[in-house]
Amino acid sequence: MLTLLKRFVLMTLFLLFTSILLQVTAFAETKTRSEYEKTGQVLWEVNTQEKIVALTFDDGPHPVYTPILLDILEKYDAKATFFVVGSNVEKNPDIIKNIVMGSHEIGNHTFSHSYDTTIKPERMVEEIEKTNNILLLETGNRPRFFRPVGGYFSQDIIDSAVGLEHKVLLWSWHQDPRDWDSKSASNIANHIMKNIHPGDVILLHDGGGNRMETIEAVEILIPKLQSEGYRFVTVSELWSD
Ligand SMILES: [Zn+2]
Repeated sequence: MLTLLKRFVLMTLFLLFTSILLQVTAFAETKTRSEYEKTGQVLWEVNTQEKIVALTFDDGPHPVYTPILLDILEKYDAKATFFVVGSNVEKNPDIIKNIVMGSHEIGNHTFSHSYDTTIKPERMVEEIEKTNNILLLETGNRPRFFRPVGGYFSQDIIDSAVGLEHKVLLWSWHQDPRDWDSKSASNIANHIMKNIHPGDVILLHDGGGNRMETIEAVEILIPKLQSEGYRFVTVSELWSD
């Protein structure tokens, strides 16, 4: 016969155990890069011998910087992929149309660009879908790719994007020149040119601050790398399956 105290202790232990178990199962565990790469759902770069690379611009569209970039890209017949923020698309619908007209690709980079890494899956889905709906309205298409804010990926974030039929694109870890961190144009361009490798996904920004150094860097690096035989293609062309 158990005493009341023993019953109480056992019951407490039982409740504690089940609550821990529930918490563990409630949060899906984030896997490693190579595990995700095997799924074909998440990509950092492409393994190829062909001299093709993808320029990606995050956080726009911006009313000043994006049009200048589009002119430079057109001048060199280079294609790029713009990971746009839905709230900026709402403010700059004409620029989005110009990106499409230039045969560049548009990717989804959430609606409000929140850095909240504990964001609930339902909210994440909302963030992605709101931007998809605006893009569908403005361009007639839903983007193929999603890029999480700050490159932060968790199982929940990946599940949210994949559930909406997106592939998730990060970037080559050796191709992040941190252009947002007050780097000079030559610093940004040299970082990219020094580390260039076929199949690279290069991370730059056309929004989120003064981007004139980034623009100047692009003007330096495109002709230089083209003279070495590189072609600048959209992410879909780089990652064709
Ligand atoms: Zn961003």
